[in-house]
Amino acid sequence: MTLELSDVTLTYPDGDGRITALDRVSVRVAPGESAAVVGPSGSGKSSLLAVAAALIRPDAGTVRIGGTDTLGLRPRELSELRLREIGIVFQQPNLVASLTAAEQLVVTEHMRARGRGGRARMRAARERAMETLAAVGLAGKEHRHPHRLSGGERQRVNIARALMGRPSVLVVDEPTAALDHERGERIMELVADATRTFDVATLLVTHDTEYLGYAASVLEMRDGRLRIPDRA
Ligand code: ADP
Ligand code: MG
Repeated sequence: MTLELSDVTLTYPDGDGRITALDRVSVRVAPGESAAVVGPSGSGKSSLLAVAAALIRPDAGTVRIGGTDTLGLRPRELSELRLREIGIVFQQPNLVASLTAAEQLVVTEHMRARGRGGRARMRAARERAMETLAAVGLAGKEHRHPHRLSGGERQRVNIARALMGRPSVLVVDEPTAALDHERGERIMELVADATRTFDVATLLVTHDTEYLGYAASVLEMRDGRLRIPDRA
């Protein structure tokens, strides 16, 4: 499904006034494609992702996922849509120390699978967790706890967890920030592969301009405004 933000404006309270974090921003990302967002700190990149992931409601504009206007949904429909259609990867993996890689992926399913049909649902979830971990290159490491994984591998688990619900939209905030160049490059490659394999519309923030070749398009944020830079 296509992710489409049109004329999105977002402000935050700031002292006696308000600060404009997004100023009439429009972005369109098709399934199987990724758009990279670059720009200085404070330019509105994380705000853009939060609006795209339907975590924050903008002051104006529309956010559509597969044609559905997310701002027109009731709170309950919106949280359903978030669960089903949106995968989020933050900069820090935030894994639970006491759970294995596979368990990190099924833990939310566990909460959802209470009651009727729960057992079959959990079995299916465990299978899907194994498939997803294999897809991010972690076959054979499914039963390791975070302390027995490298930084790059933990970020892979984080990405796998976001893909577990087979979302239509993947939102990724600075996935390489905590990694060295080599590992960072491999994570960018992985996000690009996963975008195609899982046919997700990926919106990704990075400050590492050397990795932009992995994205289908590059968007530059400046003071809450978007411009499409010339590509070298
Ligand atoms: P980036 O991710 O590019 O660093 P952000 O989206 O985090 O930019 O921030 C954009 C602007 O909005 C900045 O001026 C920031 O200080 C401000 N801002 C971000 N989040 C909040 C918030 N929760 N409350 C008030 N201002 C915020
Ligand atoms: Mg940010």
